[in-house]
Parts: sequence; structure tokens; C-alpha cells
Amino acid sequence: MTTGLSPEQLKLQARVRELAAGPVAKRAAEIDRTEQYPWDNVELLKKEKLLGMTIPKQYGGLGGNWLDAVLTIEALSAACSVTGRIAVETNMGAISAVMAYGSEEQKKMAADMVLAGDKPAICITEPEAGSDANGMTTRADKKGNRYVLNGRKHWITGGGVSRLHLIFAKVYDEKGTFEGIGGFLAIRDETKGLKITKREPTMGLRGIPEAVIDFEDMDVPPSALVIPPRGLKKGFADLMNAYNSQRVGAATVALGIAEGAYQLALDWSEKRHQFGRPINEFQGLQWKLAYMSIKLSAAQALVYNAARSGEGGFPDMLLAAQAKVFTSESAIQVVNDALQFFGARGYSRELPLERMARDVRMFTIGGGTAEVLRNVVAGALLKKKLPQNRDGWGKT
Ligand SMILES: Cc1cc2nc3c(=O)[nH]c(=O)nc-3n(C[C@H](O)[C@H](O)[C@H](O)COP(=O)(O)OP(=O)(O)OC[C@H]3O[C@@H](n4cnc5c(N)ncnc54)[C@H](O)[C@@H]3O)c2cc1C
Repeated sequence: MTTGLSPEQLKLQARVRELAAGPVAKRAAEIDRTEQYPWDNVELLKKEKLLGMTIPKQYGGLGGNWLDAVLTIEALSAACSVTGRIAVETNMGAISAVMAYGSEEQKKMAADMVLAGDKPAICITEPEAGSDANGMTTRADKKGNRYVLNGRKHWITGGGVSRLHLIFAKVYDEKGTFEGIGGFLAIRDETKGLKITKREPTMGLRGIPEAVIDFEDMDVPPSALVIPPRGLKKGFADLMNAYNSQRVGAATVALGIAEGAYQLALDWSEKRHQFGRPINEFQGLQWKLAYMSIKLSAAQALVYNAARSGEGGFPDMLLAAQAKVFTSESAIQVVNDALQFFGARGYSRELPLERMARDVRMFTIGGGTAEVLRNVVAGALLKKKLPQNRDGWGKT
């Protein structure tokens, strides 16, 4: 299915596919059942140099491009979506934001942590501010030569296992004047006031904790500010720019899961006989297979195209949003169809299909919902910032 890959990328893809089909696939069901973060797989990724692939060489990374990371995530996710997500968050998202906007000291620290196996957490969403992230109420007050953070974030991936946290808050100067949204770095267990208060009982992707994190008078120096409220493109815009890589990563996990499920259905359709012949001789299933493969090819083209658009910077916002909407929705359909091929067996926890169906469901939600990303696509096409508040765009 894959086209336009360099010989090195084809080699990388083959190597990760082998790893995925071997030790990674073996652990996937247990990770889901025990809900334990797979530190052994993190070690495996580290050994295979699949962490920090996009970190520039001068900071110890591989200096690879987004497509290298995408190929890795896609192959891993076909076997184990949790391991695929770890590869997203050690190659994209928070780490990429730090590498793009951080100081030398911040870049070095973040790169060292990721290369040692830490999956950074990105803290944006709050109980009352989800899609409308601008509505966040977590605040960072400048007090003398410090910032003091207070507020609550929820659904933070890796809360409790991640050490490095990139936390977004509304920044106020000493007079209490709002300066914009900024991003701060903090290390769990080394920063007083950063508390993991709850683990969410999730439907799928159970090997990575989703947590509520409270910031109670969390005190950090100005050197913790990685995305200043009035930075390169102004705080929140910088974040959204970096987030385009995370969206491509999330779309890739969904793609990988669906490809894994499709392959299982394809193989089973040859093995399983009913009415005296393989079930793949029934046209109803042939057409299903055909449409599944069409969706996967289209999704893969969108994802690779979005990844390629990020050469030398971050993936294009429109292409990343298009890729995430189409891939996340198609992947849910493909996995659901694949499960159907197995009849009752598909509904059993002894096969991976039910886990895949639970895992893949997340991707129209996390990292920007499919509805909100449709707004992003429409806004980019119309070259308008579309008003979402009742009275147009509100002031934050
Ligand atoms: C597994 C998982 C991991 C996550 N990881 C992280 C993380 O690491 N860090 C982090 O900060 N957040 C994380 N999130 C949170 C995620 O980004 C939010 O769930 C998402 O942005 C949606 O916010 P919400 O859940 O509050 O839904 P809401 O914003 O309350 O939306 C509810 C519904 O309304 C729709 N809606 C809202 N606004 C509009 C609109 N303008 N137009 C049309 N429809 C609209 C939505 O699409 C949705 O269907 C994670 C979520 C999940 C499920």
C-alpha cells in the first residue's frame, strides 16, 4: 500500500513491523488486561532508537523527520496501540513544542528525559475547558521572581507515569493583568504542588493512565516558561502549531490499529469456511474488504501527506486536521467491520478485535474532536476564524 518512501524509510518500516509482530504483539493483551504502563516496551523502543527520533542530532536524537516517526507509530499501533501512543508522545507533541520554542537549557533537559524513556505529558484540558481550551482557568501569577500556578487539568495522558509536564495556564503579571496563555515545564516529584489526584477508568488504551492533575501553589522559576504568553506567535498559537504534529501522530495510531484489524479480517476470511467455502467467496464480505482497503489507503495518503508537509517545521494545520478527521472516523468503521468478519469470536476477549474496537474509539475525541477539527478545516478553507461563541470570538 505504501508509496514514495526512501530506501531508509522502507528499512525502518520493515524493522519496526518485525518488532511489532514479535515482542510488541505478544504483550498487547496483557497490557490491556492489567492496565499497567509497559515500561518493558519503553525499554525496547529505547534500545531500538525509536524514542526521540525527531529530536535534532545535536541534542542526542536521530534528527529524523515526521514521516519516520509516522512509519514507526503506524507499525507499532497495528500490534499495540498503547505502545504506538508512547511513540507519538516521545516523538511529537510536547517534546516537539519544547524543541521548537524552548531555550537551550530546556531543549537539553527535555531531550535527555525523552531519550532516557520519559513520555512527556501535555496539560491543556480542564473540566470546564475542553474544546474551548481558551476558556482554561488554570492561572500562573507572577510573584517576584517566580510564577505560582493554580488550577486543575484532566484527561492528561501519562499522568502518574510521565515526569516531564508541559502545562498551559493563563499568565498574569504582578499587577494581575492578563498577559496571554503560556506553557510551563515542570517535573513530577521535583515540583511541589503538582499532584496526580485521579486516574480515569477508560474504555480502551488502558495501558496509559489518563489523570486528573491539580496544581496547588505550584511555584516555578521564569526559566520554566517554555512558551511565553507573548512568544513567537503568541503563546497559544505556538501551542496549536506544535499540536499539529500530535494530531498527525494520533491519526497514525488510529490508522495502525485499523490496518492491524483489517489484516486479521483478511486472513480469517480465507481460513473460515461456511456453506462449504471460505467466507471471502461471499460478495457481501468481498465488498466490505474492498471498502476497508480503500478507506485505509486514503487515510494513509492523508497522514503521510500531512507528515510530509511539516518538513523543517510543523505539519500544516489544514492537512493535519483533514488527516485526523478522516482517519479517526474511517478507522472506527474499519475495525468495526473487521470484528464482524469473526462473528461471535470477534466479540470475545480472547481475540484482539474487541480491544482494538475500544482503543480506536478514542481518536475522534482526544487531541481535538472530529467536530472541532471540521471547524478547523472549514476555517482554513474559508480563510476565516469561525466564531464559535454565541457573540463571536470572545476575549480571554
Ligand atoms: C484518551 C484521551 C486522552 C487525552 N489526552 C489529553 C492530554 O494528554 N492532554 C490534554 O490536555 N487533553 C487530553 N485529552 C482531552 C481532549 O483533548 C478533550 O477531550 C477534547 O479536546 C474535547 O474536550 P471535552 O472532552 O471537554 O469535550 P467538549 O469540548 O465538552 O465537547 C463535547 C462535544 O461537543 C462538541 N463540540 C464542542 N465544541 C464544538 C463546536 N464549536 N462545534 C461543534 N461541536 C463542538 C465536541 O466535538 C463533542 O462532541 C484526552 C482525551 C482523551 C479521551
